[in-house]
Amino acid sequence: MAEILVLVERSDGTVRKATLELLTLARRLGEPAALVCGPSDDSTGKVLGEHGATRVYVVDNPDLEDYLVAPKADALVAVVKKASPAAVLVTSGKEGTEVAARTAVRLDSGIITDAVDVVAGESGPVATQSVFAGTWTAQSEVVRGTPIITVRPNAVVPEVAPTEPVVESVQVEIDESSRGSRVVQRTPKTGTGRPDLADASVVVAGGRGMGSAEGFEVLERLADALGGAVAASRAATDLGWYGHDFQIGQTGKTVAPQLYLASGISGAIQHRAGMQGSRTIVAINKDPKAPIFAIADLGVVGDAHAVLPALVAEVERRKA
Ligand code: FAD
Repeated sequence: MAEILVLVERSDGTVRKATLELLTLARRLGEPAALVCGPSDDSTGKVLGEHGATRVYVVDNPDLEDYLVAPKADALVAVVKKASPAAVLVTSGKEGTEVAARTAVRLDSGIITDAVDVVAGESGPVATQSVFAGTWTAQSEVVRGTPIITVRPNAVVPEVAPTEPVVESVQVEIDESSRGSRVVQRTPKTGTGRPDLADASVVVAGGRGMGSAEGFEVLERLADALGGAVAASRAATDLGWYGHDFQIGQTGKTVAPQLYLASGISGAIQHRAGMQGSRTIVAINKDPKAPIFAIADLGVVGDAHAVLPALVAEVERRKA
C-alpha cells in the first residue's frame, strides 16, 4: 500500500491533535507515514505510532527553527521526492497552508486547501470543502502530480491504531532562497489553560447578548466543564468584552469543532463564515427570529443569563 505522508505539527514539543486527525484520515487512504521537522524524541515517535504511523521521517536541521516556514517546504519536498507518497496531508492554518502551497509549486502538483473531509476515490483522494460561508460543499480531486491536501482541524476524531513505526532520519539541504526571513525572537503568550481555538473540539462563543465582559465568565465555566475553548463575535470583541484573538468570523478565525455553542449571537453572515462548518451548532438566543437558528441543529429560545448557569450546573452534575 502506498504511503500517505502527514506533516507533523507540534506545539511546545507536543504533537498537535490536528496531526493525529490527519493520521486517522491517512489510514483511510493508504499507509500513514509522518514527517517530523526538527528533533524528534521518544514521546513524538510514540504518539505517532499509537495513531497508526508506520514510518516516521525526521528532518533535523537547525534552519527549520531559525527561519520562517520556507525550510519546512524544502524538507517536505525532499521527503516527497524520496518516498513518493500517494498523497500529502497538512493541517490547514497559516503555517500549514503556506508550506503546502510552496511544496505544491515546487513539485508542480495540484493542491486542495481547507478540506473538511478526505476519502479514497477511484483515482486518488477525494477532498470535501465547505464553501461560500458553509452554504455549499464541494468535492474535488487532484489530477496532477502528488495530491497535496490541507485539512481543517476537527475534521475527524483521532483514532488510536497502534504500530511500531520505523524511524528514518533524512538529510535535507536547505535552499539559500529559503533563508530569506529569520526568526529573531519567540515570545510565548500567556495561555488560558484551554485548548487552542483551532484544535478545540468544543467551542463556546458569546456575543453582544452576553451583556458585559463579566457575562463571559459563565461561558468560561461551561468551556472548562466541556474541555473546550471560548470564542466571541466581533460585536463582543469590539466592545472589549473578550480578546480579538478569540473572534470568530470573516475577519476573525475560522473554526469547525464537533460542537459550537453560540450564545447571545444573532448569526450575521460575517460571523457564520467562521463557524458554519461546525459539526453540531447549538444556539441560545432570546429572539426566536434570530438568524442563527436557521443554521442551528439545536436552538434554545431564552435568556442566556438563565439558560447558561443551568446548563453549567447540569454538565458539572453529570461529570461529578
Ligand atoms: P448582535 O447582532 O447585536 O446580536 C446579539 C444577539 O443577542 C441578538 O440576536 C439578541 O436577540 C441576542 N440577545 C440579547 N440579549 C440576550 C440574552 N440575554 N440572552 C440571549 N440572547 C440575547 N462579526 C463577527 O462576529 N465576526 C466577524 O469576523 C465579523 N466580520 C465582519 C466584517 C465586516 C466587513 C462587517 C461589515 C461586519 C463583520 N462582523 C463580524 C459584524 C457582524 O456583521 C455583526 O455585526 C456581528 O456578528 C454581531 O455580533 P452579535 O451577534 O454578537 O451581536
